[in-house]
Amino acid sequence: MKDIRDDLAACRLCAERFAVTATQHRPRPIVWFKPGARLLIASQAPGKRVHEAGKPFWDMSGTRLRDWLGLDEATFYDRSRVAIVPMGFCFPGYDAQGSDLPPPRICAQTWREPVLDMMPDLRLTVLIGAYAMKYHLPGFRNVTEAVAGWRDHPPGVFALPHPSWRNTGWLNKNPWFAEEVLPRLRAAVSEVMNDRPPN
Ligand code: SF4
Repeated sequence: MKDIRDDLAACRLCAERFAVTATQHRPRPIVWFKPGARLLIASQAPGKRVHEAGKPFWDMSGTRLRDWLGLDEATFYDRSRVAIVPMGFCFPGYDAQGSDLPPPRICAQTWREPVLDMMPDLRLTVLIGAYAMKYHLPGFRNVTEAVAGWRDHPPGVFALPHPSWRNTGWLNKNPWFAEEVLPRLRAAVSEVMNDRPPN
């Protein structure tokens, strides 16, 4: 298994693309995983705040996500247990409406397989948002259907809406998510986090 973390941290493939966005930022890949991780958070891409902090989910979305997973901050940020692997490792910039641009496709094409190959002990995958679901869930059609279909996914896979506060309306419209999905998700996370591999 090749350790590609330094190569990933040095990646500048999207430098020209980012330079013409409104923020004109430089690539800053947020590399947050270690080979022994058990839980994979397959997310979308860092937002501007995370880009500046250099720490994934270092915002209100992270607070909500940790609550959904039943993890405290120290455990959530323990890279040897939780791998946070977005579809784009850098903040992609904003579109004309001020929303985050999609993660650049070249990022998953270049990095996703070799990154996941580094973590053979992953036992639970939590997909966040449509881009990660499209990549990891065969037959994906839309987020609501994927989240509701948790019983039909391969074992060890959960699909979640993005924990952004912009999705509070979705959560209010779909109370089954908190009632049915979250208790199963927390139980699965607890099982994986408490079942340490032998040294
Ligand atoms: S988004 Fe991915 S491919 Fe683009 S510069 Fe960042 S790490 Fe490289």
